[in-house]
Amino acid sequence: MTKNRSIFKVIMENFLQKNFKNKRVIVRVDFNVPLDDNYKVTDTTRIEFSKNTIQEIVKRGGICILLSHMGRPISKESKYSLSHIIYCVEQILKIPVKFCEDCIGDMAIESVNSLKEGEVILMENVRFYPEETKGDINFARELSKLGDYFVNDAFGSIHRAHSSTTIIANFFKGKKFSGLLLEKEIKSINRVLKNGEKPITAIIGGAKVSSKITVIENLLDKIDFLIIGGGMVYTFIKALGGEIGESICEDDFCEYSKKIIKLANDKGVRLLLPEDVVIGNEFSDNAKINISSVYTIPKGWQGLDAGPESIKIFSQIIQKSKTILWNGPIGVFELEPFSNGTKALGQEIVKRTKEGAFSLVGGGDSISAVKKFGMSEGISYISTGGGAMLEYLEGKNLPGIDALS
Ligand code: AMP
Repeated sequence: MTKNRSIFKVIMENFLQKNFKNKRVIVRVDFNVPLDDNYKVTDTTRIEFSKNTIQEIVKRGGICILLSHMGRPISKESKYSLSHIIYCVEQILKIPVKFCEDCIGDMAIESVNSLKEGEVILMENVRFYPEETKGDINFARELSKLGDYFVNDAFGSIHRAHSSTTIIANFFKGKKFSGLLLEKEIKSINRVLKNGEKPITAIIGGAKVSSKITVIENLLDKIDFLIIGGGMVYTFIKALGGEIGESICEDDFCEYSKKIIKLANDKGVRLLLPEDVVIGNEFSDNAKINISSVYTIPKGWQGLDAGPESIKIFSQIIQKSKTILWNGPIGVFELEPFSNGTKALGQEIVKRTKEGAFSLVGGGDSISAVKKFGMSEGISYISTGGGAMLEYLEGKNLPGIDALS
């Protein structure tokens, strides 16, 4: 991984110095955006985040050929056609964007070859071909015929060895670069993992311990405080002998939770679990609520948010942190009665960021929470790639980055 990170710098310097005049530049973007029933884009973040890369290439005289996937189509299902999002890409880029109904073959090549300097074309969903997710080299070769250069800006897919994210790079020796978003994402995570100013606090929440195991283990070598929140709390509490009522729990991971507590202790990391929690008699907006010690949740009740005392303690930790990583909500923020913990913690992070700390938020649900509570502007960096960010935090190599080297 160290190798990836140093190579990364070289790749970026090359891209910004490049003159793409009249060259066809394939840009792998992540336009996997959500659509409503009328095929309108409901969250434009991913498109907005790739804007700089596309505009820089256009500024350098390039012909921009955008490749992306959307959804998980089984065949050429029209609901997953990227044609639905052209209006939105045009609005964000503020230039006309052409569309090609295929991403390989004669039609695709003719469309691309008819373009002039500075024009942009969006190709149809690469996942309309099952070869894409298999990382098929022949499919990658066909895609590569569309361009003279390859730029990867799809951080959200960088952990996948798919044809258009990774394998395609084999056909662009000396002509492949990372995009500006990709650079920003990796630099931001490195600002926590590699050069984070201490004290460093990680807040790991969400429903399950099982999905965050390797992240937690890898982080323990780098951080000073670990705040555990959300549903995963109750696996830890049960492991410690507490009564958790009907709270969500992964019994198979109780032993593992004890191991994490010991590891944190051995490594001098202060691990914090909530002391009190907001409990509900059902998982709903209409639930009866109460406050309970996290260790004595009555039968028929479940822990669904951090309680006031816990929020106070967590806030004190955030107030002394210089680097903050937040992945996963600390309560069921989607339900009003259990949203306070996530909101309060978010507000503390924003406050601390204003005072000069670096804050990084990543993972689908924490981003939704930050947006829901209108805090996006107050966070230093919001990562666009949930799975990719997690794998990077786990210390894994990312195939898309390897392929650029
Ligand atoms: P994850 O995808 O693992 O990050 O989990 C995010 C989900 O965890 C969110 O939808 C939250 O509503 C949910 N969550 C947070 N706290 C709890 C809890 N105490 N019990 C059940 N689910 C929770």
